[in-house]
Amino acid sequence: MGKLPKTLRTALVLSLVSGCFASTSTVSAASGTTFTKTSYQTTDALNLRSSNSTSSKKLLTIPKTTKVTSSYRKGSWYKLSYKGKTGYVTGSYLKKIESGTSFSKTSYKTTDALSLRSAATTSSTRLLTIPKGAGVQSSFKSGNWYKVTYANKTGYVSGSYLKKVTTPAKTTVYTTTDRLNFRSSPSTSGKVLTTIPSGTAVNSLAVKSNWHTVQYQGKTGYVMGTYLKKGTSVPASTTGNVDYSGSKMYVLIPSGNSVALRASASTLSGQIARLGRGTPVVVTNSRHQTKGFVAVRTASGQSGYVDATYLTLFQPAPSNRPLLVLDPGHGGHDAGAVRYGVAERDIVLAVTKQVAERLSGKVDVTMSRYTNDYYPSLGERSALANSHATTAFVSVHINASTSTQAYGAETFYYKGASSINLARNVQQRLVSYAGMRDRSVHYANYAVIRGTKAPSILAELGFLSNSADRAKLTNASYQSRYAQAIADGILASL
Ligand SMILES: [Zn+2]
Repeated sequence: MGKLPKTLRTALVLSLVSGCFASTSTVSAASGTTFTKTSYQTTDALNLRSSNSTSSKKLLTIPKTTKVTSSYRKGSWYKLSYKGKTGYVTGSYLKKIESGTSFSKTSYKTTDALSLRSAATTSSTRLLTIPKGAGVQSSFKSGNWYKVTYANKTGYVSGSYLKKVTTPAKTTVYTTTDRLNFRSSPSTSGKVLTTIPSGTAVNSLAVKSNWHTVQYQGKTGYVMGTYLKKGTSVPASTTGNVDYSGSKMYVLIPSGNSVALRASASTLSGQIARLGRGTPVVVTNSRHQTKGFVAVRTASGQSGYVDATYLTLFQPAPSNRPLLVLDPGHGGHDAGAVRYGVAERDIVLAVTKQVAERLSGKVDVTMSRYTNDYYPSLGERSALANSHATTAFVSVHINASTSTQAYGAETFYYKGASSINLARNVQQRLVSYAGMRDRSVHYANYAVIRGTKAPSILAELGFLSNSADRAKLTNASYQSRYAQAIADGILASL
């Protein structure tokens, strides 16, 4: 028995006999009590006497740890037979033997008001009623009866009204920094169970390949670590100032190259270290930025400053891959098109982040902004793309018109066959995946695509000024379709 795992060990558990612990007891005419035959173990050498008194004749001595049975007592004297003699022993040295299973201490919650009984049977004395929703612990059960202590009383409750409280050994609290899809499996193709709002505290039970196993609203599912930051500080609304500190970013630079970790936010300052491709860092700036110097801390605990150009929220592969620079239009003070309190700035960020997530397993991805409170200038957006070996640049926007009748998706390019091909591939899929009216692919002299050297396009997903388009643009499932259309259009063009 000693070799069995503790949780499976069937044990004989002894409990002190005190008061009326026995079931189905009846008081006899001779003021004795009859009860269900119960097994006991002697806790010391014990005299068996002819009657219920220390002055009565001693028949024999029962050794310590002897198993005896009784079904009748007078006061604290138990009637029993041992070695052919029948008499009385004092209950002070008897321990009731309970047969059942001991297991590792487990916490439960009662799912209904529940009787705590003196023994593992409904016919035993009810000691008290445990209210619904109370927390109890048990480490022993007999059949479906769990031994628990509540309000200083120990007894048994039916397991039918106990729900196991899962208390994971080690969880880490994170706060979502954006709306986040809560999925059934650790993949962007996993079913979206629900969307967790920005600023929600979640418990992470485990993390693997940037997918966290988290509990949310009583369910266990998976979220991408990209929009989680450690701790419980809740960021302001998406359009207010977002506390970006704690975000994990990665060095995005070609394999074999490195960026400087500097002592201060200047190219003239000394170098603390060189950080290679894919090196993870934790941002310690509270303000988000994708240009200038970002204060970071490395995994080895070195603090310093890194050029924001070379940091991405999406982990690069160890070796070089095509690189997509994604540009959610507008940001910060520039809300873009606004109708009925809905801002283009916010929708295009939500969609573009999903594009990045879908692409990040296959290509390197960086974005011109990750929050709604940050505005990079058009020149800065192009400069970001031009600072990297960018494969393609995609700017995401939403149209608006003074006419509520204008609707549909359209995609713009500035020059080059690669840009036109990319525009066509994205446009086709916006039309087919999201059922948008096809307003076609056009040339446009827009600064953000003109200033970018890599093949570049600007997609207008639909019209915020048209009610049917607006219904799609503000719908989470359609936002996923737009994202999938853009991601697939990009991958088809590589
Ligand atoms: Zn726009």
